Amino acid sequence: MSTITKDFRMTINGKLVSTEDKSPVINPADEEVIAQVPIATKADLDHAVTSANRAYRKWSMLSVNEREEKLVAFAEALHQHREELAKLFTLEMGRPLKLALVEIDGAVATCKALSKKRLPREIVEEKEDHYIERTYTPLGVAGLIIPWNFPVSIAIRKITSALIAGNTVVAKPSPFTPLTLLRIGEITKDIFLPGVLNVVTGENELGQWMTSHPDIHKISFTGSTATGKKVMQSASLHLKRVTLELGGNDAAIVMEDANPKEIVETIFWAAFRNTAQVCVATKRLYVHEKIYDEFLTELVRFSKTIKIGNGLNPENDLGPIQNKMQFEKVKELIQVTKQSGVKIVLGGEIEDKPGYFIPVTIVDNPPEDSRVVVDEAFGPVLPVLKYSSYEEVIERANHTNYGLGGSVWGKDLELAKSIAERLDTGTVWINEAQVLSPDAPFGGHKESGMGVESSLDGIKEYTNSKTIMIRKK
Ligand code: NAD
Repeated sequence: MSTITKDFRMTINGKLVSTEDKSPVINPADEEVIAQVPIATKADLDHAVTSANRAYRKWSMLSVNEREEKLVAFAEALHQHREELAKLFTLEMGRPLKLALVEIDGAVATCKALSKKRLPREIVEEKEDHYIERTYTPLGVAGLIIPWNFPVSIAIRKITSALIAGNTVVAKPSPFTPLTLLRIGEITKDIFLPGVLNVVTGENELGQWMTSHPDIHKISFTGSTATGKKVMQSASLHLKRVTLELGGNDAAIVMEDANPKEIVETIFWAAFRNTAQVCVATKRLYVHEKIYDEFLTELVRFSKTIKIGNGLNPENDLGPIQNKMQFEKVKELIQVTKQSGVKIVLGGEIEDKPGYFIPVTIVDNPPEDSRVVVDEAFGPVLPVLKYSSYEEVIERANHTNYGLGGSVWGKDLELAKSIAERLDTGTVWINEAQVLSPDAPFGGHKESGMGVESSLDGIKEYTNSKTIMIRKK
């Protein structure tokens, strides 16, 4: 039993705000209700949006160095509360505590790195009689909609990018994982001017109200492709700017010259980190036929060393699936896969006990059109697939509406790079996976998204381009 006795409140206009209606937050490791959080009404959202618009006048007039100072103080406050935040994170998200700490520390580092970046003033033309320059101006209020799989790092990346560019923020965590961000709002509320950073919670309809709100000027959304399409449709009502970071079905291609023993551990984590609830998890693993059997044996051997259980127990490497809805989806996918008759070489049996636990499940060479290959599982079920030529595997890897990430593994780096160049995805890693940098743009092709996050380009997504021309004489 892990009930948290704290009263969680939203941060609106620099004040902590409660609501009459509350919704329960469930610990996925034992299915106990751990806390109740506010369900914002439309009036609460209006209050947050009005205060964000009011604060925008002052915040956008600060110098970028002054904004950076506040963001560094914000990052320091997260750092000071890292253990408390990580524990909350584990309780609501399920991820083991040591890895929850990695997310908090990563968010602190990202915040500091992104707030150092400076939007350029670009001189486009400078002649004796004529001058053209291009600048980037903030948009106003940014509505940030966050998923449950990386509830802190995604939130902090969006908050920092929006604020450093001069916007103010209304942020909404997922109803499944609202606690850590609510607490972040609370502990940092006196750092910014009231209204600069508002955190509101509610059900999915709160997200809909944000996307159609006339006084929110930008939506940055991370979540599923299906919801991303609804967001874009709704945001079009007021021609809001949108950045969409959506689902993926990343392929990893293991080349003929790869050494299974050397890479199997890294590939395991590429597929199963965070219990495979990662947008850029390896979700289809293509292995060259010459090394397929050896690779599969090694992968199964390593997978058997991994411990799954309650994230508060330091012995566990992987936690539960974060919520019941996702748990039921993954269970159903395993059921369908079993019924289809393909061979499951590891896992596949779900114990009848409290908590949304699914064991690491590996499927041996299922048909390319089976659901376990085509769907984004978003749970620890990995199809390993055999291929015989690079032409063939590139075509198979690209045969999806998704285009988020992918990876190539092997010794011949030139060949690996030539394969990487032909994958239709926003990021391709070679001999590594899921490495993100605040200096590298991150975003999806095709139905995996629109626009990028991180880097200066990610900050530009929170701005308008503005050109000034001067006729000097
Ligand atoms: P989701 O789409 O169900 O929800 C995401 C957020 O949108 C939540 O805050 C939710 O409350 C809100 N929401 C739901 N309906 C809405 C609506 N109609 N209008 C506005 N907001 C609405 O996604 P999820 O299940 O929380 O996250 C998992 C998905 O996110 C996976 O598909 C994963 O691949 C994707 N994801 C992508 C990235 C990326 O960077 N590309 C990163 C993490 C997760």
